[in-house]
Amino acid sequence: SAFLRRIEAVDARLNAFITVLADQALAQAEEIDRDRPDVREKPLAGMPLALKDVLCTKGVRTTCGSRILENFRPPFDATAVERLKGAGAIFLGKTNMDEFAMGSSNENSAFGAVRNPWDTERVSGGSSGGSTAAVAADLCAAAIGTDTGGSIRQPASFCSVVGLKPTYGRVSRYGLVAFASSLDQIGPITKDVEDAALVLQAVAGHDPRDSTSVDISVEDYAAALRRPVQGLRLGIPKEYFVEGTDPDVADAVEKAIGTCERLGARRVEVSLPHTEYGVAAYYIIAPAEASSNLARYDGVKYGYRVEEAKDLLSMYCLTRSRGFGPEVKRRVMLGTYSLSAGYYDAYYRKASQVRTLIRNDFIEAFKVCDAILAPVSPFPAFKIGEKTDDPLQMYLSDVFTLPASLAGVPGVSVPCGFTREGLPIGLQILGPHFREDRVLQVAWHFE
Ligand code: GLN
Repeated sequence: SAFLRRIEAVDARLNAFITVLADQALAQAEEIDRDRPDVREKPLAGMPLALKDVLCTKGVRTTCGSRILENFRPPFDATAVERLKGAGAIFLGKTNMDEFAMGSSNENSAFGAVRNPWDTERVSGGSSGGSTAAVAADLCAAAIGTDTGGSIRQPASFCSVVGLKPTYGRVSRYGLVAFASSLDQIGPITKDVEDAALVLQAVAGHDPRDSTSVDISVEDYAAALRRPVQGLRLGIPKEYFVEGTDPDVADAVEKAIGTCERLGARRVEVSLPHTEYGVAAYYIIAPAEASSNLARYDGVKYGYRVEEAKDLLSMYCLTRSRGFGPEVKRRVMLGTYSLSAGYYDAYYRKASQVRTLIRNDFIEAFKVCDAILAPVSPFPAFKIGEKTDDPLQMYLSDVFTLPASLAGVPGVSVPCGFTREGLPIGLQILGPHFREDRVLQVAWHFE
């Protein structure tokens, strides 16, 4: 009730929620109160969560921040949703996001931008900006986001909350509306690292309904937190400490590394030499996959369909022209182009080869260090409207988050200070494939 009252009081200003599930949440809460479940069986019993509106929820509208799915009610729950429900979580609502998770500022939502609770003239980050703003403003205890190229970590850093992108394959994508299937991952957005461990525990693990989810054992994440960091080798990649980063961000990250050293960790210089090609490779691969995934929105199978079309072709054209926003159209065009016969080898294949080099960079680096520390974003939350006219500038803001996504390694953003203007700064901690335990361990000590 307290969270629902707070949503009522402040969300008109922040715009973090697309749908609030007041009645359903209260009913779930009453059930928990009545049954008093054992926390060993239901570790999240009574935890009020918010879900990014890209996760399918049975009978509950799932918009993906798009006009085209404005009234789409899925007939099933995503595996992550089902598992959270099974763990006793309560769902307060569905959060705002960039349309189909394409964006870094939440300004691409058909439901309007989300405002950053720390400065409402600024963006919350994207694309999980509704989820991070909701956690930061106490509209929920924790939230679920998705990260394809930074969409959990970057908005977490802009809003001063913890956000974890698991290893690709760690969390089932069944029921997650696809943007770029080889990159998308679901993860927790929380107030602290321990909550991130608890929420990850609930959603992690193999699911036969997602053939890319990996069947390897899941650690006890909460137990891993307290392992000492004494002696751990922390890799500092020189390519992430270059000119162009806001000096306050660079200072805060440098101080954070110093804190970890004082806790007994050792600093080692590492190199991820193909970092500079990350943005280019990602912005070929992600739109290519998106153009294919979004072909299903044709006015027939899901959601919106124009009424007045004369024939089938004009129905497709009008539905997609009116249903999709400008960034989605841009990506469908880019992706269709780069997958066309004759261009495939020059763009998509090349980008995939570069992706392998980036992945190998991380594998090599993790031979000489246990975790990598870096900034999340070169700058803090920017003003609403500041970068909307220049898509390339917007894409470049993902420079520090895209390589880990392309490589598939896990990463967390944990708050590490504020700029002189009082804007939050995040520290990024990356680990080897399937070592979420280590990423959380370092983050917990640092926090
Ligand atoms: N900002 C990146 C993009 O626009 C990443 C988005 C994401 O992780 N979903 O594609």
